[in-house]
Amino acid sequence: VHILAIESSCDETSAAVLTDGKVLSNIIANQTVHEQYGGVVPELASRAHQENIVPVVDMALKKAGVDRSELSAIAFTQSPGLIGSLLVGSCFAKAMALALNIPLIAVHHMQAHVLANFIADPKPSFPFLCLTVSGGHTQIVRCDSPLSMQVIGETLDDAAGEAFDKSAKLLGLPYPGGPLIDKYAKEGNAARFKFPEPQIPGLNFSFSGLKTAILYFLQEHQQKDPGFVQANLADICASVQERIVSILLHKLVKASRETGIQQIAIAGGVSANSGLRNALQQYGEKHGWQTYIPKFEYCTDNAAMIVMTAWYKYLAGDFAGLEAGVSARAGF
Ligand code: ATP
Ligand code: MG
Ligand code: FE
Repeated sequence: VHILAIESSCDETSAAVLTDGKVLSNIIANQTVHEQYGGVVPELASRAHQENIVPVVDMALKKAGVDRSELSAIAFTQSPGLIGSLLVGSCFAKAMALALNIPLIAVHHMQAHVLANFIADPKPSFPFLCLTVSGGHTQIVRCDSPLSMQVIGETLDDAAGEAFDKSAKLLGLPYPGGPLIDKYAKEGNAARFKFPEPQIPGLNFSFSGLKTAILYFLQEHQQKDPGFVQANLADICASVQERIVSILLHKLVKASRETGIQQIAIAGGVSANSGLRNALQQYGEKHGWQTYIPKFEYCTDNAAMIVMTAWYKYLAGDFAGLEAGVSARAGF
């Protein structure tokens, strides 16, 4: 069985090919056009997807050594994401499926982020908890099988990735600032500045208060010393990162205690963060968790995770019709 998947939910155009459960290629085209605007511009993202999609699909098939005539199914990201971006990928997938007379598979992007943990060994066994932390979402997901997942906690406002990116913006760093905070934090002292941890009931998160706290903190210090940020960038980044990571870890610990589940995975772009990876590993070793962290290229948006999810849907006979729509927001 050969499956081709297309991911185009935000600003990465990606295609991947899977053969009998193994991912053979994963091509990702990043869009650089958004940097100058400090965030993703939806209309520009759609246009860039249109330019990228044919060469990206071609490369994915070539690298896998699979001819399109051999494909058994085509998968696409159906939701959530930017509507225009999702439409480019879904229309392309539908046209190709129609032309080749093969079935379509519609994939939920957040479910796919979780299943990125199944692309390579070691794979979690069921049930496990997954902390999905990306640019638009922050969720704790309970997974009982590849296709049966439940969100048991999520953010009430900003996502963890947004918390990183908005903090970075306040510090004058370019978009997306998450990776830069990670980089500067490595040289900084995380104990230097203390930012507040919000008290949110249950397993939910909140990050908007942190952003405000950082804003006031910077205003106050910059007033006294305009060179404050520049002189203390590493310490500020380390302190901000420390707080975001501790907010995430504390809820994960709570979720593990409440469910009794000690198989813990992370997923999404923010799981590339070295502070989070280290904290999870250290806590896990101390408390008997088995932890799973996908390879970096499977953390941020990619079609490998889409094709992995499509494989489980293929096995379950879960196909979509040509009338399948896309949606900006959708649960699972
Ligand atoms: P969603 O999946 O919710 O629709 P998305 O696909 O845009 O959102 P991802 O591509 O999974 O999100 O992740 C992007 C986010 O990850 C950005 O906010 C980026 O700053 C953040 N990020 C990436 N690497 C790091 C890092 N090393 N440290 C902190 N944040 C990071
Ligand atoms: Mg992205
Ligand atoms: Fe994503």
